[in-house]
Amino acid sequence: RVVVGTKVDQNHVNWVTAYNMLTGIRFTVSRTNAKMDRELTDADFDAKHKFSFDITGNELTPSAKYDFKFKDYAPWVFRHLRSTFRLDPADYLVSLTSKYILSELGSPGKSGSFFYFSRDYKYIIKTIHHAEHKFLRKILKDYYNHVQENPNTLLSQFYGLHRVKIPYGRKIHFVVMNNLFPPHRDIHRTFDLKGSTIGRDFKEDELEKNPRATLKDLNWLRRNLHLEFGPTKKNAFIEQMQKDVKLLQKLKIMDYSLLVGIHDLERGNEENLRDKTLQVFQPGGEEAEEPGPNMLMRTPSKLENARKAKELRQKIKTQKPIPMDQTTSKMPDELQDPKKNFYFYADDGGFRATHEDESAGEEIYYLGIIDCLTHYSLIKRAEHFFKGMMNTESQISAIPPERYGDRFVRFISGVTKTREAAEREKAEEAEN
Ligand code: ATP
Ligand code: CA
Ligand code: CA
Repeated sequence: RVVVGTKVDQNHVNWVTAYNMLTGIRFTVSRTNAKMDRELTDADFDAKHKFSFDITGNELTPSAKYDFKFKDYAPWVFRHLRSTFRLDPADYLVSLTSKYILSELGSPGKSGSFFYFSRDYKYIIKTIHHAEHKFLRKILKDYYNHVQENPNTLLSQFYGLHRVKIPYGRKIHFVVMNNLFPPHRDIHRTFDLKGSTIGRDFKEDELEKNPRATLKDLNWLRRNLHLEFGPTKKNAFIEQMQKDVKLLQKLKIMDYSLLVGIHDLERGNEENLRDKTLQVFQPGGEEAEEPGPNMLMRTPSKLENARKAKELRQKIKTQKPIPMDQTTSKMPDELQDPKKNFYFYADDGGFRATHEDESAGEEIYYLGIIDCLTHYSLIKRAEHFFKGMMNTESQISAIPPERYGDRFVRFISGVTKTREAAEREKAEEAEN
């Protein structure tokens, strides 16, 4: 599969940060998972726990390569969220900490956030601003309740919220979430759609230099593209989107988008698209695997991870009583691919196009609503700042959350139609 990003190895500027993030996750997630499951209380939503890591270790934390502080937020809430999203606890740990391999996407957005992929490409770590962090904590209960009522939500699935800090360094907040894109399929085109046209154009001539760039609303319209879903899928998709957007409106969230990755089944996977940048990074001690052609095929490391997860589960089982649902009650299939259980991610991790007669179409869409931690007040502030510089008010895309959401739903619903319907409309237009 196409691996985007650069490996984070010992020479990488963000190696220490990445190492500390993963070490902290491993420690805090294991710590919570080792306890008997229980119901959530109100206090769980506000909970935070601080840990100090150092080279020698102490009675609370194991020794680590570097000195750093790690803060774990609402661990029980996230444990329950991971369970709602059917993540296997052992699998999650293995994916995120297995040999400490991450690849960094750098900072693709304007926000300055950094993105890291787990080695198996299942998870994304996104660094977030303090304001976003505070906001997520504030809305966590609403988000949690929404997800319980809507397990098929299109919103980003949050699996953890943490903070790292090295001595004299700044505090780095980050979330762990689902990677919408699959490890084993090329994404031929990516779009980030907001339903606005202002500034929503990726310069087409730059596409040559960067064929995997994320395109925007105007590029989508220019290509006359549609989310080709027949009646059943279209209804389910629009209904879920409406419910999700309603929550975002209620929480006064803005600036989110629908991320759409399109896999064209006729093109399949093209070797030449493969990026050779993913390599291996691991802390001292263990022998490094040489990145070679096989490495690329091995990125998902399914078998290897399954084996390790099994070992880990075995270990957990012999250590502590673990409730049934955490270990053996799941079918092997579910354990292997929890996405199978979710309507919009059930077709090989995505949502396959259908025709008018509901027969399967030629594309698989990988989609979800992303970047949903921007509160309206933040945009307002930026808007005031820009107003002084840009003078024409019409160029400002920031509109209140109600209207933002309505416009978003209108746009996405408007482009959700089968190939047949689009052709019919075109013919009708030509007639009139
Ligand atoms: P900005 O605020 O400037 O829009 P940001 O730093 O908040 O940027 P996002 O909008 O969250 O970043 O994401 C930027 C890009 O990263 C997306 O367009 C997409 O290509 C990729 N990306 C983000 N989230 C995911 C995800 N869950 N799965 C796959 N790719 C993602
Ligand atoms: Ca964004
Ligand atoms: Ca953002």
